[in-house]
Amino acid sequence: MKRDEVFEFFRRLAEANPSPTTELESGNPYQLLVAVVLSAQATDASVNIACRPLFEHIKTPQQMVDFGEDALRDAIKTIGLFNTKAKNVILLSQALMDQHGSEVPRTRDELQGLPGVGRKTANVVLNTAFGEETFAVDTHVFRVSNRTGLAPGKTVDDVEAKLEKIVPQPFRRDAHHWLILHGRYTCKARLPECWRCPVIDLCRYKPKTPEPSPARGRGRSRAAAEGEGVKKKPSPQPSPASGRG
Ligand code: SF4
Repeated sequence: MKRDEVFEFFRRLAEANPSPTTELESGNPYQLLVAVVLSAQATDASVNIACRPLFEHIKTPQQMVDFGEDALRDAIKTIGLFNTKAKNVILLSQALMDQHGSEVPRTRDELQGLPGVGRKTANVVLNTAFGEETFAVDTHVFRVSNRTGLAPGKTVDDVEAKLEKIVPQPFRRDAHHWLILHGRYTCKARLPECWRCPVIDLCRYKPKTPEPSPARGRGRSRAAAEGEGVKKKPSPQPSPASGRG
């Protein structure tokens, strides 16, 4: 995709959703870090359901360690891989207390040194909690980047490097949120909804999905007409952490 097309691609996504944010709910950077660790191979919705009651009384690493692995495992048992995740969250909470004064570190290396924290999680936390211009590549970002021709790559690292190189200002900070939300609600994995896509003329994917016929797609068309898929930043914001994952 040419440079002016990339600019126009993000300009249109930004126009549709000027203030994108993460759908993971959190009240501070620590809760965001925990939520992102729990969201690996799970939906944000399932993480929110488990974390809402948990985060009412657990806001710090010390409180999590006091809560304990068994109780945490029980609290998150509806989320995939909950055994491993419970173990990692307790370990990372202890590491935050031992090595970082119970604060979430602000560098990629320090974040990736925590149990259960990989590059994608570090990128999300750096971006959403601390406003860094990072490009977390999840399944949606990977698919949209390749399908559209925006930032094609065989691996998530390839795609991240390309996004890092091509995304212009003023879109760098929110780019990965726009791509996630576009992939989640419009450029869906099984069947992209090209007929209502704001970047259809810029996208290289073929063949484009036509609008469903009225007989088959009445429900779908109504939802589209009502603006489904345009994720707005919730107001008021629960915390600085939710400034957009
Ligand atoms: S035109 Fe279709 S394939 Fe291309 S970005 Fe839009 S929804 Fe995805």
